[in-house]
Amino acid sequence: MTLASLTTADWHARAASVRYETGHFIDGKHVDSVAKGRFTVVNPATGNALCEASAGTGADIDLAVASAKRTVASRVWSRMAPRDRMAILAKYATLIEANAERFALLDTLCMGKPISDMVNIDVPSAAKNFAYFSELVDKIDGVVTATAKDAFHYILREPLGVVGCIVPWNYPLLMAAWKVAPALAAGNSVVLKPAEQSPLSALLMAELFIEAGAPPGVFNVVNGLGEAAGAALALHMDVAKVAFTGSTEIGKQMLIYAGQSNMKRVALECGGKTPQIFLADMPDMDTAVTYAINGIFGNMGEVCNAGSRLLIDKPIAKEFIERFIAKGKSMYRAGDPLDPATNLGPMVTASHQARVLSYITRGKSEGARLEFGGSAPELPGAYVNPTLFTGVNNQMTIAREEIFGPVAAAIEIDGVEQALAVANDSIYGLAAAVWTRDLNVAHKTVRDLEAGIIWVNCFDHGDMTQPFGGYKQSGQGRDKCLESLLSYTQTKSAWINLG
Ligand code: NAD
Repeated sequence: MTLASLTTADWHARAASVRYETGHFIDGKHVDSVAKGRFTVVNPATGNALCEASAGTGADIDLAVASAKRTVASRVWSRMAPRDRMAILAKYATLIEANAERFALLDTLCMGKPISDMVNIDVPSAAKNFAYFSELVDKIDGVVTATAKDAFHYILREPLGVVGCIVPWNYPLLMAAWKVAPALAAGNSVVLKPAEQSPLSALLMAELFIEAGAPPGVFNVVNGLGEAAGAALALHMDVAKVAFTGSTEIGKQMLIYAGQSNMKRVALECGGKTPQIFLADMPDMDTAVTYAINGIFGNMGEVCNAGSRLLIDKPIAKEFIERFIAKGKSMYRAGDPLDPATNLGPMVTASHQARVLSYITRGKSEGARLEFGGSAPELPGAYVNPTLFTGVNNQMTIAREEIFGPVAAAIEIDGVEQALAVANDSIYGLAAAVWTRDLNVAHKTVRDLEAGIIWVNCFDHGDMTQPFGGYKQSGQGRDKCLESLLSYTQTKSAWINLG
């Protein structure tokens, strides 16, 4: 039976018996916290407690980092023959796919993502991510430089050592994969701190890495709250780099931690307020409207690059909005995340639901027009209905702050120059899109938009070769792509005197 053929009842039956661990994974074993603390993980679709997970503290981080450090010192991973490391990572990618059902259930139960999204997007993307980086293991080359005849100079590219990965809850498996895969492929050892809302899939990831044939201690997981376990990892003197995905506020904190400890490298993938520019000459309005709807309501709007600002050219604004309302009002429907037909799950927690609803209240009080949504449906979980505001200007709070929910803000613009000015008037710069038939305008817009990822006549397209990361306060690292792999290495220059 394939996962695609499972019914809601099948998924519920599987959810009732899914096997998972709730502690940490250190030195190749599932372990409890030193201090025995626990925190409650709540299923946001029901509001019921799912489990009690181990609340890691500095003592657990110390054990995990020490375990990783031992593998760095023994070089059991970094000096393994590259083809052997490749084989382990390639096998690991297949194990992720083979365990798709468990991964899908664990993340859906913790954070409410529709099970179909897990099966069709998160799990295959995570597996592809490991497969891509596995293929790069023996392509990390050094160089020999041109020198005068009395010297021979070569540059080695070496791993950094212990890498700490701190990730959010919106794509728990996939965001972890984006950090862990290049770090491991480059020969580093890892300590991963998942978000406290979604602690379970990371433990399965670490367990399967051993099953793939990797040595214990190379990939460790410590669960716990950000200000305890996360801070201890980011402040640790033996961690060479922190790779962080999360909010801009905590991203800034990571830079402070680095300065307060050992000047560790910091890579940041943070928030966004992505503008989608729809110009009057766009190729096909229906397609663009569909992308606009998916771009903000997909994954409940809990997406760093969610297309939350719709910048619509005046001549087409009325028609575009009418079509958006006609289709967008009903395209995403709140429902049981374990129902394969559901495409809108709950917000990750009740407090996040309250936060999103408070932004909606703010939008109304600042004078934006609520076209649809704006409320929570009559369901037990932390749901928010898909919401569209029109009549928004770029100074309103709903146009400036990252809501991280299914809330679209439509702003009318007068031509491409004004669109660019509005698009760039943001502290964020993760992604942007432009829809136009005019090649010159498209290329000019690509140049002038201040964002790390630009889509033309599409949204959210890409593959593993695409650098994913932001300009401005959206961060300063790049995930996926070759550049990401190299960011987990450092160069060593060897100057040999032949004189
Ligand atoms: P968050 O910043 O609250 O938490 C992210 C991680 O940091 C969690 O593991 C958390 O436990 C940890 N953390 C929190 N406080 C900490 C502290 N004081 N010290 C150390 N660690 C701490 O973010 P979130 O709410 O989990 O995720 C949502 C955010 O993530 C959004 O802003 C979203 O845009 C961003 N995000 C960005 C990308 C990207 O690629 N740019 C991708 C996904 C999510």
